[in-house]
Amino acid sequence: MNIENLLRKNIRDIKPYSSARDEYDEVSDNMIFIDANENPFNTNVNRYPDPQQTKVKERLSELKGIPANQILLGNGSDEVLDLVFRAFCEPNQDNVITLPPTYGMYSVLANLNAVEIKEVHLNIDFEPNVDAIIKQQNKNSKLLFICSPNNPTANSFNAVSIERLIKSFNGIVVIDEAYIDFSTQESWLNRLNEFSNLIVTQTLSKAFGLAGIRLGSCYASELIISVLKKIKPPYNINQLTQDKALERLKLIEDIKAETKIILNERSTLIEALELITLVEKVYPSDANFLLVKVDDADMRYKQLIKKGIVVRNRTNQPLCENCLRFTIGISFENKKLIKTLKEL
Ligand SMILES: *Cc1c(COP(=O)(O)O)cnc(C)c1O
Repeated sequence: MNIENLLRKNIRDIKPYSSARDEYDEVSDNMIFIDANENPFNTNVNRYPDPQQTKVKERLSELKGIPANQILLGNGSDEVLDLVFRAFCEPNQDNVITLPPTYGMYSVLANLNAVEIKEVHLNIDFEPNVDAIIKQQNKNSKLLFICSPNNPTANSFNAVSIERLIKSFNGIVVIDEAYIDFSTQESWLNRLNEFSNLIVTQTLSKAFGLAGIRLGSCYASELIISVLKKIKPPYNINQLTQDKALERLKLIEDIKAETKIILNERSTLIEALELITLVEKVYPSDANFLLVKVDDADMRYKQLIKKGIVVRNRTNQPLCENCLRFTIGISFENKKLIKTLKEL
């Protein structure tokens, strides 16, 4: 597939902003920086951050087995996804395909960028309808968003279906793996180099426990990454975020231990929920949350708030009538949820 032809023309021709820190290669310890009009007095953050986030990318590269030049970092996945829109989608001309019920940001970003959305609902078993998706695409279809494990349905999609979609979609396929660390499925990162039209996004907001620092990542071919790098704001990842991410990325064993606890809590919570009368169905989960069908989602949502428990009401999403979404909390929180539901 010729990826260059999928790009917007203005993006193909764009010349990136060259920041002060981009314009030299020499590095030694005793350099004097009088190039960027910073305040010279030390506050630990008086200098602009590394625009290429070299250290964080090196660490991620080690962890994921993907070369640093195939990684782009963003101020949350949201920024990464917005950059993908801006690179490939011509406003008021191109379209993207989403598979509701799914993550709400794809359509928000499409609307923000004046890009048409073609929605192809998941099947009743929450799997993508491959034939319908392929039928929906036309020559202006630039992006297909596949969220797996999917939010809010909590399942991972069939890998054979995903592969068929990557091979038959004539634009870029974005696989959002925000919940991959909780999943039993293999990451598509392992197959990144087989597909020139594949972008995989991940985040430090979920299993890595860093939602507050806003760090999302995107993995793709060197070509796609070089284009996204050209159009990203020069200093999009601030110094505090880079420092905190590096610190946390050293503690992989801690993260794995926390993930294991969350997965155990998930099993316990599923068993308890299945015994509660107002619960009609607990859907299988490959993520750190549960989609749960109840008798009356609007009413139960309000009752839970009154009892001090905030859950997500997904009843208005397609295929999610009377469904609530519960994030797996710590043991105490999950017990409180069960106790409260029993009392209701
Ligand atoms: C939570 C979530 C993200 C993470 O977004 P950030 O901007 O990185 O915090 C991305 N995709 C999905 C489907 C999510 O649920």
